[in-house]
Amino acid sequence: MIHPDTELRFISPEVGFGVFATKPIPRGTVVWVLCRLDKVMSVAEVDALPPAYQPIIERYAYVDSHGDYVLCWDIGRNVNHSCDPTLMGVGHDFEMAVRDIQPGEEITCEYGGLNLSGRLKCYCGSPQCRGSVSGDDVLHHWQAWDARVADSLKYAPQVVQPILGYARNPNQFWAWVHGTEQLPSNREYHAGGTSIADDVSSRPWALRGRLAGGE
Ligand SMILES: [Zn+2]
Repeated sequence: MIHPDTELRFISPEVGFGVFATKPIPRGTVVWVLCRLDKVMSVAEVDALPPAYQPIIERYAYVDSHGDYVLCWDIGRNVNHSCDPTLMGVGHDFEMAVRDIQPGEEITCEYGGLNLSGRLKCYCGSPQCRGSVSGDDVLHHWQAWDARVADSLKYAPQVVQPILGYARNPNQFWAWVHGTEQLPSNREYHAGGTSIADDVSSRPWALRGRLAGGE
């Protein structure tokens, strides 16, 4: 479930669509949650789908820390990657604004923690752009990402949280915010994504890959 103050916009033929803020979204706001309408599928379930479904899974699903595929039911599936994203993951089921997001600004997240099976070229254009994104980026950057999440988590109680009620376990988020439970590290998102199977796709950002077989 994506925050209501967002909309889908066409960016370019190369990039496709992206998600943009329609109103200011302050730092600390949860902008996406894994909700009960999002579909979570095991590898076996995905493999059992008819071939016609596979391109949809390849393009729109991501792989979570358990190795399962997650397909968002709403425009959450259109959120693009940036190496300087507006959102970062808090635990496995929440994405939070890590800076103030202005109306018209693109909502982006970090694909490096989403277990990509290949290396994607990145055209995010940020000064911090790594040039490409792969499933093992999280192993190199988890400390910086953890720090970034921790810096923004303290703003969460001070802002309106319109979508937490849709989360599968909203209390989990507040336990991390209030420090009654230890927030898991980004490193724990890693489920075997690699950069071995180089992806020569010309599509920047949009493709989310599958786990390499047997990993
Ligand atoms: Zn980039």
